[in-house]
Amino acid sequence: MASNEFTILAPGSPGVMGWAGRSGQLAGTGLGTQCVHGGAAPDPAYGAVAAPIYETSTFALLDICTSAGFEYTRSGNPTRARLEEAIALLEGGCGAICTSSGMSAVLAVISLLEHGSHVLCPMDCYGGTFRTLEHARRVHGLETTFLDMTDPEAVRAAIQPNTRLIWAETPSNPLLRLLDLAALARVAQRQDILLAVDNTFLSPVLQRPLDWGADLVFHSTTKYLNGHSDVVGGAVVAAQGRRDLLQRLATLNMSLGTSQSPHDCALVLRGLKTLHLRMRAHESNARALAGFLAAHPAVAKVNYPGLPGHPQHALALRQQTGFGAMLSFELKDGSPASVRKVLRALRWFTLAESLGGVESLVAQPASMSHASMTAEMRERIGIRDGLIRLSVGIEDQADLIEDLRQALES
Ligand code: PLP
Repeated sequence: MASNEFTILAPGSPGVMGWAGRSGQLAGTGLGTQCVHGGAAPDPAYGAVAAPIYETSTFALLDICTSAGFEYTRSGNPTRARLEEAIALLEGGCGAICTSSGMSAVLAVISLLEHGSHVLCPMDCYGGTFRTLEHARRVHGLETTFLDMTDPEAVRAAIQPNTRLIWAETPSNPLLRLLDLAALARVAQRQDILLAVDNTFLSPVLQRPLDWGADLVFHSTTKYLNGHSDVVGGAVVAAQGRRDLLQRLATLNMSLGTSQSPHDCALVLRGLKTLHLRMRAHESNARALAGFLAAHPAVAKVNYPGLPGHPQHALALRQQTGFGAMLSFELKDGSPASVRKVLRALRWFTLAESLGGVESLVAQPASMSHASMTAEMRERIGIRDGLIRLSVGIEDQADLIEDLRQALES
């Protein structure tokens, strides 16, 4: 068709083809539709279907004190705004901030707290969270109690007059212990304490903490939300009705300089489009592998909430819509030589930090993610040297099982 048959409107013409308002219609749709269309209305300037990457540090003002909505990328960027909208939609929140890493999102959350505030945190939390809270204790006067939060009564008993935040991580890394989110929310609400939940391991496809009463949901988007191991990023979502928190977090993201680059935001947005499909494929492989490992004579114990023998299997069925694709197991022979032999023999499980990418990874938490904890604390929690953690990818199931079999029998 010759171009002179087209009517060409000025860039930014509103309302064409019903683009405007599409995001508002996503509220009642299914998760797959939300993954594909969240934050993805065609670009109002030229109709680009893929989110344009606004790779710019600054924006020309239209006049003095007049902008087209963005002034400087540290404080706001259209590509980041799309990602924030998409993640908030999937988690059912009122909005989100996207940050340069999961840890900078942790920093934003704890920066909500006044000097002298007290935080409750699971003793088997992600090692980086532990390190950051320890730093905040030493340098910023935050008090922290690390405890076993699987018993909500113990959490209630640990509350002090200055407790302002309960940080939950469920399932936990690397032991796959679960926390009862509804019970924790009841404890927090009664005392006007914030409940923030690290939902990195399951993603909103398999667990939505805001539905159970959390105030904030945290993600290392480095993991499943992006899913392709090519971005480091974080996000915090505020619950409906907590616009006050969202505004404070947005101000902190701007002031601390923790906001995520437009290019990385575009990559995470692309990852989100297949999140629902990836999570199901990851989980299907993980279930098969957990069953295989549980029956293998070289394995002493498998930690996977999808196994009927997991002590919190019933809670997983109630609180989650799937079991996820993270699991850990202990070898009967947990000696360093035996662990090394298995790790070296694996072909499709790469020995690497991180998780949640399409490729399978293996880790030894004691020497990797949890090396910043003292050996005494690791022992107390149950992170022994013979513990091996798998992030199960989306390769063919038979290949992954065969790989584990040959490594365990090597
Ligand atoms: N929370 C959990 C459960 C994690 O596994 C990680 C990283 O492994 C983080 C937080 C920190 O995120 P990032 O590495 O993106 O800073």
